[in-house]
Amino acid sequence: MKVTDHIKQANGKTLFSFEVIPPQKGKNIQDLYNNIDPLMEFNPPFIDVTTSREEYVYVDKGNGLLDKRITRMRPGTVGICASIMHKYQVDAIPHLLCGGFTKEETEYVLVDCHYLGLDNVVALRGDARKDEPYFKPTEGGNHYASELVTQISNLNKGKYLHDDIKVEHNYDFCIGVAGYPEKHMESPSLNTDLKRLKAKVDAGADYVVTQMFFDNKKYFDFVDKARAIGITVPIIPGIKPLAVKRHLQILPQVFKIDLPEDLIDAVEGCKDNKAVREVGIEFAIQQSKELKAAGVPFLHYYSMGKSDNIKAIASAIF
Ligand code: FAD
Repeated sequence: MKVTDHIKQANGKTLFSFEVIPPQKGKNIQDLYNNIDPLMEFNPPFIDVTTSREEYVYVDKGNGLLDKRITRMRPGTVGICASIMHKYQVDAIPHLLCGGFTKEETEYVLVDCHYLGLDNVVALRGDARKDEPYFKPTEGGNHYASELVTQISNLNKGKYLHDDIKVEHNYDFCIGVAGYPEKHMESPSLNTDLKRLKAKVDAGADYVVTQMFFDNKKYFDFVDKARAIGITVPIIPGIKPLAVKRHLQILPQVFKIDLPEDLIDAVEGCKDNKAVREVGIEFAIQQSKELKAAGVPFLHYYSMGKSDNIKAIASAIF
């Protein structure tokens, strides 16, 4: 079922959802299930599955030379979606990236998604590759998420990339896109970033999921500004509980987001990461309570491969 239909069906009730990352190559999918299992009691209508960008590794050729090879350390997004749907009977949503995929490869992934019965996809540009200083579009690929949304919308209208064929059964993907309450790191201003978000919605996006934020006011302001420029689709808040002391540096550095002073003080006062995890849980509970009281359609949690803290938060909220 489409995310937008889940929202309609919920009739104003806030629903629980979360994101998982595929296991690293060589690891067992059971590890992923072990993290999903404890969260199923909160009835998530959908689970998101991320896609990792390709990266370069250097392989020792044994003759003093190194071979540069391309690899994807966490493959299998669409297969994992199919197995989640099969195992838990919930919607699973693959993240699709511009980076690392030609438009043709993207079309094949979408065909797979359609045959597997996936009703939703999230369309993203992807970050820069680790060995590149900034995002470089893949040759023959989409440059921005808005272009990827257009490709998916075209397929929904029966338009394949190259084939002029009679389509008997149109695709009907519900399309999610990313939004940034504190603006995307490359954007010159929040207003410019909001115009880019509007372009994604105009191209066919049906809902927005936000980057993590720790100050609800930033989310509420973002939603107000989005509504003011005509973005009417649901805007689902993304929440990540802080879990280790190093997050105080990593999260601002990687995601260019601010952390509130009271959270920083509480984390700095912790004697170990076990205590930080408790602070992160308590903070996310308060954040979630306020968002739920404001009537957000979903509370969407970034689980980052561990679910004990998400379970503690969900137990207090749902
Ligand atoms: P876009 O919407 O294309 O925007 C990227 C930048 O380009 C922005 O600064 C925007 O303002 C600017 N821009 C857009 N259009 C134009 C234009 N026409 N001209 C000039 N500038 C323009 N990353 C992964 O690798 N895998 C994942 O699974 C993943 N999941 C995510 C899920 C969520 C909910 C979020 C919020 C992010 C996720 N990301 C993921 C990270 C995401 O890929 C990065 O934040 C990426 O840098 C931007 O992606 P986007 O889809 O927002 O890009």
